[in-house]
Amino acid sequence: MPNIKVLTTLMRELEDQLVVCMRCGMCQAVCPVFAETGLEADVARGKLALLDGLLNEMFKDPQGVYERLNKCLLCGSCAANCPSGVSALEIFIKARAILAGFMGLSPAKKLILRGMLSRPGIFDRVVEWGSKFQKIFTMPANELIGTSCARFVSPLLKDRHFMPLASEPFHRKTAMLNTDKGRSGLKVLFFVGCLIDKIFPQLAQDVIDVLNYHEVGIFMPRKQACCGIPAISSGDLKTFHRLLHYHLKIFDAEKFDYLVTACATCTSTIKEIWPMMADKDSEDMKSRVADISQKTLDISQFLVTKVGLEKSAIEDIDTTVDVTFHDPCHLKKSLGVAAEPRALINANPRYHLIEMPEADRCCGLGGSFNLHYYELSSNIGRIKRNNIKASGSSVVATGCPACMLQISDMLSQSDDKIVVKHPIEIYRELIKINGTHT
Ligand code: SF4
Ligand code: SF4
Repeated sequence: MPNIKVLTTLMRELEDQLVVCMRCGMCQAVCPVFAETGLEADVARGKLALLDGLLNEMFKDPQGVYERLNKCLLCGSCAANCPSGVSALEIFIKARAILAGFMGLSPAKKLILRGMLSRPGIFDRVVEWGSKFQKIFTMPANELIGTSCARFVSPLLKDRHFMPLASEPFHRKTAMLNTDKGRSGLKVLFFVGCLIDKIFPQLAQDVIDVLNYHEVGIFMPRKQACCGIPAISSGDLKTFHRLLHYHLKIFDAEKFDYLVTACATCTSTIKEIWPMMADKDSEDMKSRVADISQKTLDISQFLVTKVGLEKSAIEDIDTTVDVTFHDPCHLKKSLGVAAEPRALINANPRYHLIEMPEADRCCGLGGSFNLHYYELSSNIGRIKRNNIKASGSSVVATGCPACMLQISDMLSQSDDKIVVKHPIEIYRELIKINGTHT
């Protein structure tokens, strides 16, 4: 349990932020959960009203407060559209930490977060065992997308079509890197992230190939762990702080100009949540986290704004592939990054970008929200799927591996012949084509 001083500070910060809400209700129009349930309790205004009396409610009905708070995607649509500038996400995250501090974590969360996530070596070994044995419990679902589904009736997997664990995580292939800056004059720390390491390792290779092509020095520290988002979303400050300290230590080994990731969720966690939730007691800690945060960029943002994109060496193109782009909430709503991933796609003349309706509407994953409220998550996901289909594209690109999972599930279940890609993959294809033309 976090100490009482930390919880009291969080409570005070929460109170200061809650008074900003003027109860106008404009967040209703943009909340994907409210759009499904129509319940005031599910929208930011309802949650904030509940939190206003948090101390009272927490003693009266802690489980009820917990459930209402957790029925939220943490998508940030409410915060991005709030005329009063209420930091709804910050409030929800702090409130979850206060509640978890008061109620404690469930045994399952304790096992997953404290027993595995906060211990990178154990986490890696468990996932590698999972990868070896997954075929016993799962079977291929959609060959084009590469998803699997449960082989037997499973209350955990339900009807999900999910991307299987990679047979070899990225860190097994490339444990660490430390290369010099070349003609770019820049060196980056490459933060891989769990989903890319364990499910989409090819994306990490694409990032490295692109950085090498642009002669950007790469520092990829050995034994990277999770950015901490699953822990802090569950209110587990202890695991979050442990991971934060762990990363600061391994990042210290080398100087770098920027920290880049190809995961929108990792980028926004490191850039926004690390400074928001770092221990406030240590000035040294605050300044180190602030420095890392300020250096953190999504890979597309880094390539477009700091390096400059490569021009295509191909002159005549017979056919192009129609592609549409889904804006991850953590990229557009949290960080305001939307043009840069599209620029990566547009750089490759073999692709033709078509905007889908409501490209920045949440895909409905929301991390553990998908585990707890799969039906609701799928209903929201199906709206995204329909928007993707409406674009008429055969490829949907998105800059977050978590969104890739949700979109793959939705498309795979409907047998749509639409492939899911990351913009870095599309840009990497251009680099490869250029390589064969020089
Ligand atoms: S959170 Fe913002 S949009 Fe929602 S009710 Fe409060 S002031 Fe209005
Ligand atoms: S973060 Fe998203 S799901 Fe949660 S209340 Fe705000 S808009 Fe609704």
